[in-house]
Amino acid sequence: MIIVMQSHVTDEQIQLVQDRLSSMGMQPHVSRGIERTVVGAIGDERAIDQEALEALQGVEKVVRVMKPYKIVARESHEYDSTVKIGDIIIGGKALQVIAGPCSVETKAQMDAAAEGVVAAGCRLMRAGAFKPRSSPYAFQGLGVEGLEIFKSAANQYNLPVVTELMDVRMLDVFLTHNVDVIQIGTRNMQNFDLLKEVGRTHTPVILKRGLSATIEEWLMAAEYIAAGGNHNIIFCERGVRTYENAYRNMLDVTAIPVLKRETHLPVIIDPSHAGGKAWMVPALSRAAIAAGADGLLVEMHPEPEKAWSDADQALSPKELGVLMGELQGIAAVLGREL
Ligand code: PEP
Ligand code: MN
Repeated sequence: MIIVMQSHVTDEQIQLVQDRLSSMGMQPHVSRGIERTVVGAIGDERAIDQEALEALQGVEKVVRVMKPYKIVARESHEYDSTVKIGDIIIGGKALQVIAGPCSVETKAQMDAAAEGVVAAGCRLMRAGAFKPRSSPYAFQGLGVEGLEIFKSAANQYNLPVVTELMDVRMLDVFLTHNVDVIQIGTRNMQNFDLLKEVGRTHTPVILKRGLSATIEEWLMAAEYIAAGGNHNIIFCERGVRTYENAYRNMLDVTAIPVLKRETHLPVIIDPSHAGGKAWMVPALSRAAIAAGADGLLVEMHPEPEKAWSDADQALSPKELGVLMGELQGIAAVLGREL
């Protein structure tokens, strides 16, 4: 950490900064230049309150030199790490496409969806039983009954299930229902109590990016989960809110190489909630895989036009199959498998 002092700083003010740093367990080193004095602070700056230092008289600014995240940082783990879900690996050579409807609706719908997931060659299934809807009057999901319908449909094909946890009070129910992957949705990315609790489990977590979260905020959210001991974290970019309204959200493809540099954890993309239209999903999926994503989270419904939520963005089972074929070619060019 570097503390840049104001141009007319006094010796007493510099001494006070040194004393404060020492009391925080940091080693201060003063460098006096002709125009400016800076105080370098050696030590673990992550627990240091930057604002407390900035509030001291004579301090112009405080510059951090370390990343605020630790466990999830590439700095602390040079090689790519993978997340295992049974015998399926996310973040390895093979790309994984997680597909399924936005919401669990009925047994027949989920049975048909599971069949479509397997027919397309996907190895994991998604669906929401607890839905974060913008309107309290919209369909909120089937709840625990939905989890049961989901598990029984997926179990017929040994498909691991991915489903969203919105409320910490439902965590035990998720664990007793053997949810394979807990999805933390965009609206809960900074629900720190929820993050802490999933951090105490060993269940893999898909952490979606907040609607308007910076990459650093997102990495810090993952750090909350990791700090509790759960390192099975998969980042999922799902589009961010911008000024553009020609599509639902703007898929931040740039986040893929940036995250790959900043963290060793796997990164997947949700093209469905990014574009918001089924016809955009193939192009966004191709771009994501080409940019280095480890997989996709795609909405597919056996009868998209009848979906109870996000009907406009769901692929049909046939469209999902076509997409998987297209992605195979891109995967091969990149030396990956699908
Ligand atoms: C979802 O995956 O169905 C969902 C609600 O996603 P998000 O949190 O990205 O909006
Ligand atoms: Mn959805």
